[in-house]
Amino acid sequence: VTHTDALIVGAGPAGLFQVFQLGLLDIRAHVVEALPYAGGQCAELYADKPIYDIPGIPVCSGRELVERLHTQIAPFTPSFHFGQLVSHIQRQPDGRLLVQTTGGLEFLCRTVFIAAGVGAFVPRTLKLEGADQLLPGYLHHHLPDPAPASPEVLIAGDNEQALQAAIQLSATAKVTLVHRRDQFSAEADTTSAFRALVAQGKIRFIAGQLTGVTHEAGALKAVQVLDSEGNTRSVDTQQLLLLLGLSPKLGPVADWGLAMERRQLQVAPESFATSEPGIFAVGDVNTYPGKKKLILCGFHETVLAAFAAATLIRDGKTPLLQYTTTSTHLHALLGLTKTSADSKS
Ligand SMILES: Cc1cc2nc3c(=O)[nH]c(=O)nc-3n(C[C@H](O)[C@H](O)[C@H](O)COP(=O)(O)OP(=O)(O)OC[C@H]3O[C@@H](n4cnc5c(N)ncnc54)[C@H](O)[C@@H]3O)c2cc1C
Repeated sequence: VTHTDALIVGAGPAGLFQVFQLGLLDIRAHVVEALPYAGGQCAELYADKPIYDIPGIPVCSGRELVERLHTQIAPFTPSFHFGQLVSHIQRQPDGRLLVQTTGGLEFLCRTVFIAAGVGAFVPRTLKLEGADQLLPGYLHHHLPDPAPASPEVLIAGDNEQALQAAIQLSATAKVTLVHRRDQFSAEADTTSAFRALVAQGKIRFIAGQLTGVTHEAGALKAVQVLDSEGNTRSVDTQQLLLLLGLSPKLGPVADWGLAMERRQLQVAPESFATSEPGIFAVGDVNTYPGKKKLILCGFHETVLAAFAAATLIRDGKTPLLQYTTTSTHLHALLGLTKTSADSKS
């Protein structure tokens, strides 16, 4: 069990900036994120699209905003736990909160910040006969990093990620892509590049649906594909990538016994506290009079939540508001000066 003053559920823009605001109050945070990377909707839904309403940044892409947030929070060395879905939050007899993930991690926390947005981004999957007997490392829902080194890879999907993965892996492996029909939802450039490689025989495309897998002692050997003529064929492969997109699942957040309104967590707008002491909610996941689901609003919410949490952690002592421009204490916390000992008061 990891002990921590603060745990953040979700690494979207609100979760990332929560790290920063806690850091300024000298509170270190653990961040648990269902996806294998940070950024939430900015990274997942519009990484390459421009955002125009971040104060002081006239324009930046979703990806760039996430990169900038990473740089900004780096001095506070957050501990990220990616690929982990927070499943349970339970009050312990001593008042602390036990947070558990589906991956088996456990945290004992003084405070928890739910920055879960529209829910955990969970990969869509397929029920394939025999797949439950595969050992780990044969079936993936993201393109693994580093990419698989196997001679044959089978990809299911028609979106940008699926076609990009097929193009990338075709340089080193025999790639088969399976999708119901010969129409794709990827960007036009990606689709043309993909079609060109299919025409050159560098990628095989099969119009069909996956039905099952063949394995030997848990090692993937082949995938069964029901083609558009109704015939099932077996396609040899050592790796299977199901790149079928992600769907947000509010799932567990709704099971933690917190007061909700229309699938959003009710919060007090002066502290962003939920109905449970020590549990705060920031960003798209919360609701209060006048709520706007904007990144800017999420950022504001993290400041007030951090101050309220610090007061709780420090037994009722409210931290002083200090300016990053002039406070030597904050400069020390930001790693701009060597020691904070002289300036702490
Ligand atoms: C196409 C599009 C364009 C947009 N353009 C703008 C814009 O121009 N300006 C603007 O201000 N806003 C814009 N938005 C809205 C903005 O993206 C959201 O307001 C913002 O992403 C909310 O941030 P968040 O951190 O609250 O949640 P999210 O970005 O949704 O991140 C939440 C994260 O929490 C994770 N999570 C959830 N539950 C769990 C769990 N149980 N365990 C582990 N992890 C979990 C999720 O996987 C996700 O990564 C746009 C949205 C879309 C869809």
